[in-house]
Amino acid sequence: MCGELRTGDVGRTTTLAGWVSRRRDHGGLVFVDLRDPTGLMQLVINPERAPAATELAKEIRNEFVLQVTGEVVARAPETVNPNMATGGVELQVAELEIVSRSTPLPFQLDEEGVDESLRLRYRWLDLRTERMQRNLRLGATVVSAIRRSMEEQGFIDVWTPGLTLGTPEGARDFLVPVRLQPGTFFALAQSPQLFKQALMVGGFDRYYQIATCWRDEDLRADRQFEFRQLDLELAFPIREDVLEVLERVVVASFEALDREPPRRPFPRISYADAMLRYGSDKPDLRFGLEIQDATEVTRGSDFGVFAGAPAVRFLVVPQALSRGDLAKLETFAKEWGAKGLAYLICGPDGDVRSPIVKFLSEAELGAFAAPPDSTVLLAADELPGVERVLGALRLHLGRELGLVDETREVFHWILNFPLFQPDDETGLWTFVHHPFTGALEGHEELIEDDPAKALSQHYDLIWNGWELGSGSIRIHRSDVQQRVFSAMGMTADEANAKFGWFLEALQMGAPPHGGFALGVDRFVALLAGEPNIREVTAFPKVSSGSDPLTGAPSAIPSAVLGELGIRLLEESR
Ligand code: ASP
Repeated sequence: MCGELRTGDVGRTTTLAGWVSRRRDHGGLVFVDLRDPTGLMQLVINPERAPAATELAKEIRNEFVLQVTGEVVARAPETVNPNMATGGVELQVAELEIVSRSTPLPFQLDEEGVDESLRLRYRWLDLRTERMQRNLRLGATVVSAIRRSMEEQGFIDVWTPGLTLGTPEGARDFLVPVRLQPGTFFALAQSPQLFKQALMVGGFDRYYQIATCWRDEDLRADRQFEFRQLDLELAFPIREDVLEVLERVVVASFEALDREPPRRPFPRISYADAMLRYGSDKPDLRFGLEIQDATEVTRGSDFGVFAGAPAVRFLVVPQALSRGDLAKLETFAKEWGAKGLAYLICGPDGDVRSPIVKFLSEAELGAFAAPPDSTVLLAADELPGVERVLGALRLHLGRELGLVDETREVFHWILNFPLFQPDDETGLWTFVHHPFTGALEGHEELIEDDPAKALSQHYDLIWNGWELGSGSIRIHRSDVQQRVFSAMGMTADEANAKFGWFLEALQMGAPPHGGFALGVDRFVALLAGEPNIREVTAFPKVSSGSDPLTGAPSAIPSAVLGELGIRLLEESR
């Protein structure tokens, strides 16, 4: 292969095939950098030795496919290229064949900053770049390490259907019309959730799959309509068993890439603690800047905003910020829903400057404990708003002030999420993870008595502030499952219509079970150091939801729709 030849191969006659990366004419001699998946090799075509090849070489353009045969020779010392793996040798071409030609290229492969839509429109060219070659190969290495680790841990790969009934993972379903039963639709599986639980009831105690999932959601840097999950489920687990499986998978993936793996066990933080200290359920722990609570101490404050606010919390920034900085931070905080941003600037001598300082008691100032050369930023509002604003500010300042230690890889778990959250649209309770998540031990009674306080056995895996995946110990009793449905405002009839088959399965000897799903594409993107999953996806869609390569989605002729029992509304034609 092109990238494999070394000075030890000098004297060998060999045949190479690949793409033309570059051609240079040096008054008679023609040099070509030939590229295949292993790397580059310099070809020399000499008019005296190979007149026919030299003639043909005039036609060569970038990205033509060539096949050449010749002798590996050592380069003259002054032409050795130490930056190239094959830089000590070149191939003295005897025979040359142009196997395939290329039309003029829409962009050069080594061009910087090519527009992404152009890259995706001509993805077959883009895939030849070093970046895409590296990323897809890295992805394959990771997937194979994941499979190996799962199989070593006793899991078996079982395939589950994509065409199914709606699965409640909190997104819209993609619907597929059914020709054999016009007017009916399959939903594309948002995850194999109920199938994997049914496998547990079916006596397979360790299931996994690299499963494709489909979710009709707005596309973002880390979101595509379809994506892969390492989906897994175990029978008779305690939570720690599931976490251990995943930690082993993460370590195996790092090792497969020859990277130092994170140390196990990964730290575990409760959801309540994460929200209090970091204002986020996926905190980046590569820096401190922890949020602190001042609700109690500001109860009787002379500063009215604090006195009446349900929650007052603050950050101590290790820098005396300027008024200009503070104005910018206030705008930022308002974008995240804050009404304002109170602050105290602590000068080098510990002198405090702030429009609100005159309203604050010694006890309040003491509670902020701001050291010299620091700034206290305070948010006062309903608790969720305070968490959101300070969480966003913490992350923003962590990056802006260079507090994030980029050399660290921090994996951690968030545990004990709430079971329910209010659904703003319906005013009812809805699930935080999905409705099959079990309550924390001792919290079962709260499902009906006080849903707001019920905690769950749901856990998330976080890497440097990115959520890699979620899982839970499930409900394995039909009566408990029905109580959860009913706490969410579902009648028994509605629950039966949607999940009747599953409730029945839980009544026929369901073992306790639990599992997890890890977003493979997100994991690979982070391992590859890429800012979004499109860079590790061979053929991704863009944010409008279309595929620039094929032009999908497309309109369908009405005759075809008719066969499916579908007629379009006037406005969508
Ligand atoms: N089905 C869940 C998801 O896709 C994962 C799990 O609970 O195992 O997020």
